[in-house]
Amino acid sequence: MAAKIKKNDIRLLWKKYYICTPKFTTMEERELHRQFKIRISGIELGKHCFSIDCDKEFFDLAGIEQLLDGRLVLRVEMEKSEKMVDFQCHFEGEVVAECDRCLAPVTLPMNFDERLIVKLVAENYRSEEEQEDDIWMMDENTYEIDLFHFVYESIVLALPIRIVHEDDADGNPTCDPEVMRRLDEMNAENTEKEQDTDPRWDALKNIKLD
Ligand SMILES: [Zn+2]
Repeated sequence: MAAKIKKNDIRLLWKKYYICTPKFTTMEERELHRQFKIRISGIELGKHCFSIDCDKEFFDLAGIEQLLDGRLVLRVEMEKSEKMVDFQCHFEGEVVAECDRCLAPVTLPMNFDERLIVKLVAENYRSEEEQEDDIWMMDENTYEIDLFHFVYESIVLALPIRIVHEDDADGNPTCDPEVMRRLDEMNAENTEKEQDTDPRWDALKNIKLD
């Protein structure tokens, strides 16, 4: 249930951002976007396979701010039937993000599956209640399906909530040693400050309230 709420929140946020901000303005952006528009009208029923490269250009254009670099290959097995298009998606590759602890780049291997089902319905069919996360209702005369948003959402949801450098075999963090040393110093200073309290407060502590 929690995951569903999160997914909806992200979808809403993205839609707001996406609708308010003019995107795909340059030739390069439109070219990149075109990869994600999958034609479904007039193609044969059955399986169609294709792949899409998602690299830094895509992360930047989609506004995935956590990602500094990387490359994911999305392999799609699309099955078209009379009233439905089923996208079985496999993402594989690695991304580079900022470490939450030392701010140095961390490389994260990614390997995950996602699925999107698009039901093709009559033009006058309208039922908001039946819209689900992984099932889209679209007009049966739809010419192409834009997977840009779906791919964005899949990658964002697959990222770990906390991104940090992994610990080594001895359980020590492999973060930037200089940053870790400074963090330790700051922690030590804070502890000292806590211990070094005003003697007037110490006197108050001894007052019994009962
Ligand atoms: Zn780190």
